[in-house]
Amino acid sequence: MKYFYDLHLHSCLSPCGDMDMTPNNIVNMAKILGLDVIALTDHNTSLNCKAAMEAGKEIGLLVIPGMELTTSEDIHAVCLFPTLEKAISWSEYVDERRIKIKNKAEIYGRQVIMNNSDEEIGEIEALLLPSSNISIMEAYSKVKEFGGICYPAHIDRDSYSILSVLGEIDEYCGFRTAELADKSKESELKELHPVLNNMKIVTSSDAHYLENMKEAENFLELDELSAEALIKYLDS
Ligand SMILES: [Zn+2]
Ligand SMILES: [Zn+2]
Repeated sequence: MKYFYDLHLHSCLSPCGDMDMTPNNIVNMAKILGLDVIALTDHNTSLNCKAAMEAGKEIGLLVIPGMELTTSEDIHAVCLFPTLEKAISWSEYVDERRIKIKNKAEIYGRQVIMNNSDEEIGEIEALLLPSSNISIMEAYSKVKEFGGICYPAHIDRDSYSILSVLGEIDEYCGFRTAELADKSKESELKELHPVLNNMKIVTSSDAHYLENMKEAENFLELDELSAEALIKYLDS
């Protein structure tokens, strides 16, 4: 079956995520847009995934717990997990391995943790944007140890992407999937970087605002709609 997805979304927990990106607003907007499955991928944390998964369950939308990791090279990579427990373990692991400077909410934005009723239940003090000490070379295998999958985010962008930083996707990184921000660049990039021909390509919105979430357009063919099935597919 075809399932429409958006596997890169930020909530109000990302400093750059709009305060309207609450768990319920995100899942309801996803439903309106016709999506079957979304992933919540805040910068270097998975602490709003529980609320988003619960809010999604209420309306019959699959929410995959995830994170957008900042590697030691300042490369962004999407991490997805089959269960909340695995995502939280990974989130704790990353939390111990990232640069901690106090967030200036008036400059970068607040970092709010919510429950499944969109009530504030906490705020992360240390700015979530700076890099971790996990390198792009080890990201895939490290996330795999935690039961998830990791792939480079928005590889066609000029900043925080594997191609803008390294110029190449080294096959030793082990990535099986790559994310494009702009699907129309797929064939051009595949010509420049043949390694992409052996990888799954996904396109997601990377929305930080409700109005930047996109209509259902990109789909995956899966036997069943589950986090396990989706991750297995992207990792094959
Ligand atoms: Zn990014
Ligand atoms: Zn992002």
